[in-house]
Amino acid sequence: MRIADGQGLTFDDVLLKPRLSRVRSRSEVDTSTWFTRRIRLNIPLVSSPMDTVTEHMMAIALARLGGIGIIHRFTSIERQVAEIRKVKRAENIVIRDPYSISPDATVGEARRLMEEKGVSGLLVVGEDGRLKGIVTSRDILFQGDDVPVREVMTPRERMVVAHEEIDLESAKKLLWRHRVEKLPIVDEDWRVKGLITAADIIKKIRYPNAARDRKGRLLVGAAVGIRGDYLERAEKLYEAEADALVIDVAHGHMERALEVIKELKKAFGEDIDVVGGNIATYEGARDVIAMGSDAVRVGIGPGSTCTTRIVAGVGVPQLTAIMEAYKAASEADVPVIADGGIRNPGDVVKALAAGASTVMIGGLFAGTDESPGPIVLRNGKRYKVFRGMASLSARVGKEAVTKGVEDTEVAEYSYSTEGVEAFVEYKGSVEDIVKRLVAGLRSGMSYLGAFDIEELRLNAEFIVISGASIRESYPHDVILW
Ligand code: 5GP
Repeated sequence: MRIADGQGLTFDDVLLKPRLSRVRSRSEVDTSTWFTRRIRLNIPLVSSPMDTVTEHMMAIALARLGGIGIIHRFTSIERQVAEIRKVKRAENIVIRDPYSISPDATVGEARRLMEEKGVSGLLVVGEDGRLKGIVTSRDILFQGDDVPVREVMTPRERMVVAHEEIDLESAKKLLWRHRVEKLPIVDEDWRVKGLITAADIIKKIRYPNAARDRKGRLLVGAAVGIRGDYLERAEKLYEAEADALVIDVAHGHMERALEVIKELKKAFGEDIDVVGGNIATYEGARDVIAMGSDAVRVGIGPGSTCTTRIVAGVGVPQLTAIMEAYKAASEADVPVIADGGIRNPGDVVKALAAGASTVMIGGLFAGTDESPGPIVLRNGKRYKVFRGMASLSARVGKEAVTKGVEDTEVAEYSYSTEGVEAFVEYKGSVEDIVKRLVAGLRSGMSYLGAFDIEELRLNAEFIVISGASIRESYPHDVILW
């Protein structure tokens, strides 16, 4: 037994000292950063893989604003993959495999397919794979269900089409000149190669800061475990073109968790980035990186629904954990993800100044329009459910869908839960929260004279504060509205 040197610190224990700044306006600072060794984001925000935080709606919203969401793993492989696909299809420059229907199908079938896929038009494609026409919701509005599609479609002779090489500007001009909303891409033999839609172009203009992959689609990550079906899951998520696999375990500095990093890197090589963790020490970060991890997820016990520190007596205050992990990560040029405990915009600034490249957020993003789950009314106020993934209710639900888990494991969990289930107030759109966090970050960077996140870290000098200072930091001696 020994006592570690120094004292563990967390966000509320410190402040950043202001310094001479050349930053004239907060809009001048650059908030872009690395999520993993190869994935660049425009804002340093990541949403947690929790079933009350991140499914496709959260991931789409965050990626449009420049961050990334990690789709949780507490569901079947098929559903998790479907969530990834929804994000990848949300915004395309070119949709590579547009939904299509046969000319011999009926209007009823076309209507059902459009509804099921949530699209307003279908390409009409013959058995030979060649474009025959297009049918849109307007074409079938007043048509009976039994009418064949070929009778209501706009035939290809009257359509505007483009060829593979078309660029965005030319596509925009074509769509506008002909007042159409869909531009199929075909080869010389009318074989369908893709589809450009006006709706996607509008979204691209509306979200200029969006985090995108090489094909112009929104970025998204996916969580995997280390037992049961994890390998098959990882394979399917890889096939669905998730941008990163995030290993999602409470204790990432466990031999089994380290082996899985190696296994996934070996299986998928440089094609997909793998994130190891969670760890909270220098040694943890070092060992995760040694296995080939492309980022390190840091945080044992700081999460808002987490009771690990109470139940197991284990953890490291989050600011110290980030600093420790950064020491190992910076030697290898691997980004640090600070996971858990973010309550205020200032905490994001402190986490980044301490060495993180991004912060992962659960509780702050829960209770929004984009987080899964219904709004519930209690005493006239609106709430949503938010639960730790090691909480009893999450465990029981999860084990039911996870294959290969022994009954004994379920029983064991029900005695040792390390999370709670709670209500959080309904907060409206996550966009407002993101804007508040980014505004705080820009402000913090300007106080520290930092034009980018690396400079924020270089310029940072923390000062440890007392309980009295914390009281001074919050509004005091006034009556809040
Ligand atoms: P928050 O932003 O809510 O403070 O922290 C979110 C993080 O808490 C998640 O990304 C995850 O690492 C962690 N977490 C989620 N559920 C649980 C749980 O039940 N127990 C523990 N120990 N940590 C959890």
